[in-house]
Amino acid sequence: MSVKKESPVDHRVWGDEAEIVDAALDYAWRRITEAPDPVSGARPAADLALAAGTAVTPGGIGAAAAIKLFDQVLLPATRSQNASTNLAYIPAAPTRAALAFDAVTGAANIFAGTWEAGAGAIHAENEALAWLSGLLGWPSTAAGCFVSGGTMGNLSALITARAAAAASRPRPADGWKIVCADSAHSSIRSAAQAMDVTVVTAPVDRRGHLTGDAVDAVLTSTTGVFAVVATAGTTNAGLIDDLDAIADVCARHEVWLHVDGAYGGAGLAAPSVRHRYTGIERADSFIVDPHKWLFAPYDCCALLYRDPAPARAAHSQTASYLDAIDREVHNPTDLALHLSRRARGLPFWFSLAVHGTERYVRAVERTLTASRLVADAIRADDRLRLLVEPELSVVLFDRPGWGPQDYATWSARTAATGAMLCVPTQWNGATVLRLAFVNPDTDAEEVIATLRTLRQGDEPRG
Ligand SMILES: *Cc1c(COP(=O)(O)O)cnc(C)c1O
Repeated sequence: MSVKKESPVDHRVWGDEAEIVDAALDYAWRRITEAPDPVSGARPAADLALAAGTAVTPGGIGAAAAIKLFDQVLLPATRSQNASTNLAYIPAAPTRAALAFDAVTGAANIFAGTWEAGAGAIHAENEALAWLSGLLGWPSTAAGCFVSGGTMGNLSALITARAAAAASRPRPADGWKIVCADSAHSSIRSAAQAMDVTVVTAPVDRRGHLTGDAVDAVLTSTTGVFAVVATAGTTNAGLIDDLDAIADVCARHEVWLHVDGAYGGAGLAAPSVRHRYTGIERADSFIVDPHKWLFAPYDCCALLYRDPAPARAAHSQTASYLDAIDREVHNPTDLALHLSRRARGLPFWFSLAVHGTERYVRAVERTLTASRLVADAIRADDRLRLLVEPELSVVLFDRPGWGPQDYATWSARTAATGAMLCVPTQWNGATVLRLAFVNPDTDAEEVIATLRTLRQGDEPRG
């Protein structure tokens, strides 16, 4: 038996990958241009394991088999986030331009942590951030970076806020505290836990808003608060806290104001709702997830600071091998809890650049219009009850007489037919239905027609 010896100077460990590249890029092209997005969803782990078999083997299975497995087994076992009938949680609706450029961004494999390595990409990301900063009404000296998601953005901003507080006063005996409403996103509690700080909740008013008075009461009676977190677009109900009054109170108490706009920050672009954000120009930090309502693919959160200096002080990592980094220039690494990073803002930048910001304005307004049409139809339907006047694009409603099981059955049936994905949530302690609109292709009339199935029969349990 002859053993084929590898040449010691053969550098081509991977062999010729041209065919593999062709197969993968061809697949990417087909998936990105596919329309409409297929409706699909998860399956049980054991069932999936059986269907998928083993792909990671000593010899490898080759590109054709791996792509076939992904296309026929793995991808269909994921929820199609982009389907225009997906109105559950916060769905997604990336432009095809952004999806295509995500592939380009991957192809270039840019290290976008430092200017020295990623200048061109960082310049473009900064241009996209500057558009957001302009919507906020912030000065041109504002700066930020893209991180993986709202959770990372909130954590990074709060770390900055605490470092800024700790630079000017001693740690309180009973520790540092964050003030927010109960309606704040769960990631604020996660951040507090990671930072070993306490969350003090302030009550919301009857409209579901955190108000200046409520924040003032907590700040007056509590010591050691280093940040107030207000939400611009609560995840569950799409409500915007009273930012203007909260900004007044934060200024008076000299406390950092962070605005979490992970979902609702996109509404800043829409003239019809822009007035709700008054006061945001005085926030110290802000996040918005372009992967939610700004038509970018996962994963993409824009983190912005009105003054980036405290963020640099809080986040710049030091090590002997990092001494060569030029700290006089814009290093995204210095502004959040990360070091290596992909240029995840590029797909968003590319889509903004090719389509123009006016189309973004139109797309956001279109989703707002669809949500208003659906809310109107619910209001006009004597079997249904609109629970909250929508401020953005989340619609909360119920069908009086129905209980949790009725909603679960209807939701599952409606998902199974592919008509719509609408899952129940809780509102004031009761099970209700929730629709979240972020996709300009969602057809309000189609949604309204599906909601008519909620009227059928007084005995929904069948
Ligand atoms: C979605 C959301 C987050 C968390 O964002 P991720 O990108 O999922 O980490 C934080 N805050 C609000 C208000 C959100 O809607």
